[in-house]
Amino acid sequence: MDFTLSAKGEDYRRRVQAFVNNELIPLEEEPASYDEHENIAEPLLQTMRARAKQEGLWCLQMPVERGGQGLNISEMAACYEEMNRSIFGPVVFNSAAPDDGNMMVLNKVATEEQKARWLQPIVDGDVRSSFVMTEPGPGAGSDPSMMLTTAVRDGDDWVVNGHKHFITGAGIASHFILIAKTSDDPRKGLSAFLFHKDDPGWEIIRHIPIMGPEEHGGHCELRFNNMRIPDSNRLMSVGDGLKLTQIRLGPARLTHCMRWLGLSKRSMEIASAYVSERESFGQKLADREGVQWLLGEAAMQIQIGRLLTMHAAWKLDQGDFARKEVSIAKVTVADTLYKAVDTALQLCGARGYSKDTRLEWIYRYARQARLVDGASEVHKMVLSKYLLKEGDGFWHWG
Ligand SMILES: Cc1cc2nc3c(=O)[nH]c(=O)nc-3n(C[C@H](O)[C@H](O)[C@H](O)COP(=O)(O)OP(=O)(O)OC[C@H]3O[C@@H](n4cnc5c(N)ncnc54)[C@H](O)[C@@H]3O)c2cc1C
Repeated sequence: MDFTLSAKGEDYRRRVQAFVNNELIPLEEEPASYDEHENIAEPLLQTMRARAKQEGLWCLQMPVERGGQGLNISEMAACYEEMNRSIFGPVVFNSAAPDDGNMMVLNKVATEEQKARWLQPIVDGDVRSSFVMTEPGPGAGSDPSMMLTTAVRDGDDWVVNGHKHFITGAGIASHFILIAKTSDDPRKGLSAFLFHKDDPGWEIIRHIPIMGPEEHGGHCELRFNNMRIPDSNRLMSVGDGLKLTQIRLGPARLTHCMRWLGLSKRSMEIASAYVSERESFGQKLADREGVQWLLGEAAMQIQIGRLLTMHAAWKLDQGDFARKEVSIAKVTVADTLYKAVDTALQLCGARGYSKDTRLEWIYRYARQARLVDGASEVHKMVLSKYLLKEGDGFWHWG
């Protein structure tokens, strides 16, 4: 294992860091920078996306021939961490969920025709996308085998009926990846399809209000009523829906970890600045051992999260699926983010609880980390299955 960052990765990391410090963090102070989702307002987003393109920092995760920068996963880990030191960062560089995971999976599994039509406009920043899987009970949530949305073959088309919810970005997305049930086969019963927002036969029933700030387009509940999808818009083979989901979620979960580590570091930057200035009982807060232990603990947890994330990234770069490593990183870093921002908020006193810093934004956002892309308990269940199957091999180095 060698986690030395390549010269290319280090160059991009430094440039992303400078862009975030100089261009994005100052914007966070201005109320006019925000839209109704508590995210960067659309006109400002377009200006900053153009700046990121000019600086050659656009779409780090995509191949150069598609207009990206061709970074590998380890290089992305260092850069995504830097970019999410600003709450506006990922979407400005076109590396925010769900577009990020959707682009990566389409780049891996779509045909060349499908890439030209469905992937390229997302890479170019012309459209946004959504991943449509989760259903209200009794349908598929943690357990995808409970899927109730069906796609039934009818000539050259598939006819889709069903109900989905918590679909991030659906309010503004144009390109959708849909997972639906195509047979009762326990392993090969799901298939994946592409559809466009203007296709008839589906609707947004409501935007689901959530506790935290949102991605653009919110989190939506959708209904499908005899929507016809041509077979040419099927991704991979019939029955490969679960496989596609696993291909998408491995790297997508890890890019969440990369971004969450950036938010964790930013939280500690805000807290460090406060305790270095603020005095109580005749001493700077930073000089008190009780405060130092809190700072040291948070710094330690962030570094543990970084090493787990980099290890999983390194394995993915070797061509491994890194299923255990991604799960371990995802569970750990979700907790790290929550604890880091909670510590930072506590150390900033009343100011931490106010909207004068970004801490309360990050605090509300952080709670979703233990739920999205698999609840922590489900990842631990998967890890226990590996442990029971592999025994001591669970910890092998090779
Ligand atoms: C902000 C946000 C954005 C999202 N975006 C999308 C999206 O874009 N597309 C999409 O398809 N979905 C999305 N989701 C849905 C998300 O993937 C699901 O919430 C998640 O998979 C869990 O499913 P569920 O909510 O139905 O929980 P359930 O399956 O109902 O589980 C509830 C709880 O039970 C516990 N649990 C479940 N199974 C086990 C087990 N085997 N062992 C022990 N405990 C267990 C866990 O604590 C879990 O949190 C989003 C969710 C949120 C909160």
